[in-house]
Amino acid sequence: MATNQSLFERAQITTPGGVNSPVRAFRSVGGTPRFISKAKGAYIWDVEGKQYIDCIGSWGPMILGHAHPEVVKAVQVAAENSFSYGAPTEAEILMAEKITQLVPSIEQVRLVSSGTEATMSALRLARGFTGRDLIVKFEGCYHGHADSLLVKAGSGLLTFAEESEDIDLSKNAPSSGGVPQDVIKHTLVLPFNDLAALEHAFAQFGPEIAALIVEPIAGNMNLVQMTPEFIAAMRSLTTQHGALLIYDEVMTGFRVALGGAQSLHGITPDLTCLGKVMGGGMPMAAFGGRRDIMQKLAPIGNVYQAGTLSGNPLAVAAGLTTLNLVSREGFYTELSNNISKLLKGLEQLAKEAGHDFSTDHVGGMFGIYFAKEKPQSLEDITKSDMEKFKRFFHAMLDEGVYLAPSAYEAGFLSIEHNDSVIEKMLVAAKVAFSKI
Ligand code: PMP
Repeated sequence: MATNQSLFERAQITTPGGVNSPVRAFRSVGGTPRFISKAKGAYIWDVEGKQYIDCIGSWGPMILGHAHPEVVKAVQVAAENSFSYGAPTEAEILMAEKITQLVPSIEQVRLVSSGTEATMSALRLARGFTGRDLIVKFEGCYHGHADSLLVKAGSGLLTFAEESEDIDLSKNAPSSGGVPQDVIKHTLVLPFNDLAALEHAFAQFGPEIAALIVEPIAGNMNLVQMTPEFIAAMRSLTTQHGALLIYDEVMTGFRVALGGAQSLHGITPDLTCLGKVMGGGMPMAAFGGRRDIMQKLAPIGNVYQAGTLSGNPLAVAAGLTTLNLVSREGFYTELSNNISKLLKGLEQLAKEAGHDFSTDHVGGMFGIYFAKEKPQSLEDITKSDMEKFKRFFHAMLDEGVYLAPSAYEAGFLSIEHNDSVIEKMLVAAKVAFSKI
């Protein structure tokens, strides 16, 4: 029988690092990644036949639980009629109508195949629409792996607000090999939740800024929420300076609430990026927003964007069925209440075991931190007890609970994580907290 270890060794011969997306390799927690054979509801199984409660849900999409019978059926029906046509279908209209109905700031939408494509295309569109080059993003927010987004702020940027120095974009550093300096000089990276820094940046660069892109509830540095003042300032400063506000809701869309984080913030972004839940686990994502901006896209406008598999019939079938199912009354309240129960239980157990520990959640997305207080920024996350997190991750894995293998990632539960599943998670956590 194949083991996780034997497959990991074999995979590394033909695949760099043995995985097709880096975080899967368990680099930040150490140990052997689990090779998965199947999943159903709240559970996932590895090739050795061990069952785990899945707290990743494919990094967000599986909000209904794995292999939901109605979603599986919809995909099977679509597959009978072939996998792809490269021509428009009625189902794509239904999908666009559903998205525009659930997220009112989206007047028009274009379907793509990954979150990276969605953000990359939204930024190109923002630049094409405004005729400007500069993009503002925040530290700790991940928006996919387009060149212009793989950038770290130059040293000194974190403190410039107090010193009121000019920001020097030539000091930016790429956060990946293969990214030209010429590309990242158009990206301004600011500290998350830092109002003074945001105001400073717009004062210096206002007329050059095409767009500000943000994860409205950051989920790529564990889970970090913004203050209401910061949210309001993003909207007013972009409007005032003629820049577009892009909500990257690839993770939060249909995950934190039916209308996304923007419905919770009471904010109308100019453009929104979607992914994950909207594809129900199939490769699909989207970007959309104000009609006048979307009208700049090819074939009617001069901003080019395209995709051989965009609006793929199988992905649309999975996504549309998922969106219909999460639209039922009370779905998000139930999901959120279940996560609250879990987090309250974890906090209690951590306290009994004497650990500094805190939690946060919005809808179906949560964060756990080995720190006394909820974090406000990437810096706060970095200061949490990473070594303890690693030990907790492995102790939980041993007990059959599969957490995200990094303290920099949020967790995701599904509607199938009901009381009895949560009870099992707490039993596992009691053991894990005592071991670490
Ligand atoms: N934006 C956000 C907020 C994300 O969380 C992700 C992926 N985790 C992306 C964009 C990129 O999506 P994908 O991995 O589908 O390219």
